[in-house]
Amino acid sequence: MQKLNTTRRHFLAGIAVAGAGTVASELSLAATQEAAYAIDPPPTTSMAIVGTDERFPVRRVFCLGRNYRAHAFESGDDPDVNPPFFFIKPRDAVVDASLGHPYPQITRALRYEGEMVVALKSGGVNISESEALEHVFAYGIGLDMTREDLQEVAQELSRPWAISKSFDNSAPCGPLYTVADVGHRLNGRIWLSVNGEVRQDSDLSLMRWSIPEAINILSSHYELKAGDIIMTGTPENVDLVEKGDLINCGVEGLGEIEVLIT
Ligand code: MN
Repeated sequence: MQKLNTTRRHFLAGIAVAGAGTVASELSLAATQEAAYAIDPPPTTSMAIVGTDERFPVRRVFCLGRNYRAHAFESGDDPDVNPPFFFIKPRDAVVDASLGHPYPQITRALRYEGEMVVALKSGGVNISESEALEHVFAYGIGLDMTREDLQEVAQELSRPWAISKSFDNSAPCGPLYTVADVGHRLNGRIWLSVNGEVRQDSDLSLMRWSIPEAINILSSHYELKAGDIIMTGTPENVDLVEKGDLINCGVEGLGEIEVLIT
């Protein structure tokens, strides 16, 4: 109670001195209590979990770029010079793979990237590699869909990747498999086919930043929290798809997902 009073007093003093500048403080104080929202709160984005009706609520979607050597080379990068990196998709980019993937607006070059997804049950900052896997709740399969033509323009102009990577529905994902059920997935085949023809075929062990390394590095940049997912990057042989194409993507031990481009 004493602490609250002190905070309140401090806040009131702030108003007198700083006026409008402290309104945000008042709002965040209110947000810690029961809030009435001016509009309906957005729905919670969540992922199915194999073996239970419970779902995994998504907080943030971190993605690894060029986390396989051969894909770095095909992207025009030199993995001996440049390390992998991170980018972000909005949480509601995550949709159930079974709903299909609507061919997005604007682009004429929609690219698939088959990836394993890591879902965290807890987080922190500066998580050590040796403790990183303790934060993993489950693994799954997802597609990092990309508007390749917009990405090329962004790269030419040294602009952010947002409109090429972070568009609506850009992360169709399958159900999660819990660590309790399947253990940790640090190696094993990852593959992707289009209309039955295998296009990508690699192994999780070829990731440049392993999952513990990725969690360690990511947690040095951001405070990770329960609900965060990490898309761990795609192997080589990314390519374009058209409306009507059927993508299957599998990871050893995690089954496969099927995504129809609609
Ligand atoms: Mn990717």
